[in-house]
Amino acid sequence: MATVKTELSETKLKSLRALLETRHAELDAEIENLENDIKAKTEDESAESGTGGNHPANEGSDVRDAEQSATIHNDLDIMRQQVVEALQRMEDGTYGLCQRCGKPINPERLEALPYAAYDIECQAEMERAAGL
Ligand SMILES: [Zn+2]
Repeated sequence: MATVKTELSETKLKSLRALLETRHAELDAEIENLENDIKAKTEDESAESGTGGNHPANEGSDVRDAEQSATIHNDLDIMRQQVVEALQRMEDGTYGLCQRCGKPINPERLEALPYAAYDIECQAEMERAAGL
């Protein structure tokens, strides 16, 4: 792939990097909280062993809770991965370029979505292809 100079200034890049690093720390904290939460629930459930305890809607709620937590965990993992990859692209000097077509991503899009890996056109095309 030919090297395309990004349109991002050093200053802009720096502030985007700060945003990504903050997001990364937040996601780490969220994931840790969630994992503690899941662990607490699992322990809670085995301790109570079917008495229902203080759960208002007991039947199957723990299972749904666990499923929900797993879904959230998965989403957080994906987001963290996107943030990590964006930071990696900054290291590589490919940050701000679409990972699909190599064109520079609109700086406004990057400000709204600092971990965006694709430009709007490719994102839309991929979402269409994925049936979203
Ligand atoms: Zn593209």
